[in-house]
Amino acid sequence: MKILIVEDEPKTGDYLSQGLREAGFVVDLARDGLDGLHLAQSVTYDLIVLDVMLPGMDGWGILQMIRRSGRDLPILFLTARDEIDDRVRGLELGADDYLVKPFAFSELLARIRSLLRRGKAREPEVFRAADLELDLLKRRVIRAGERIDLTAKEFALLELLIRRQGEVLPRSLIASQVWDMNFDSDTNVIDVSVRRLRAKVDGPFPHKLIRTVRGMGYVLEPGNDP
Ligand code: CA
Repeated sequence: MKILIVEDEPKTGDYLSQGLREAGFVVDLARDGLDGLHLAQSVTYDLIVLDVMLPGMDGWGILQMIRRSGRDLPILFLTARDEIDDRVRGLELGADDYLVKPFAFSELLARIRSLLRRGKAREPEVFRAADLELDLLKRRVIRAGERIDLTAKEFALLELLIRRQGEVLPRSLIASQVWDMNFDSDTNVIDVSVRRLRAKVDGPFPHKLIRTVRGMGYVLEPGNDP
């Protein structure tokens, strides 16, 4: 889990980043608004802790720019002023939560964990491609209304393909994501598993979803012509 802290006050910034690192997070610290905005737009974070009063660009400006670019990661803002106006404004601009300084670190940690849990709940539980449906929670795959039985590895493989449908996935990536192996490992394992998966998912149907891209890897394409 990667967190960006945007905080200009040196002691607070150091204290927060050290605390969050000790709690197991990967932390980047930006000490002014422009640096914070740049990091927020160029690096993928799971959450941002954003101070409101910042040199360069204030927290409101950063918040607006992030939301305008369509990123919906959780943002928790820190305000020094205990004013209703500030909190209302932050939440209206699309922040998810706020803390009023000074606050206890344990309080910040609890809020962060709660926001990250909420973020996870927003992930889709059912993935679809054409008439294929993969239900993550029920561990169930259905195509054209028919239940398809998969092994655990086949399910993980199909989950990866359907999550990233339309994208050609190299064998090395499939190996690392599904088998936890390195590229040097026997990639024949992957080819055999993909063949078995295709026999079940595509075999009985005229419209083939999983395609081999020679020399590159595999792709699941919902838009393929039959
Ligand atoms: Ca500040």
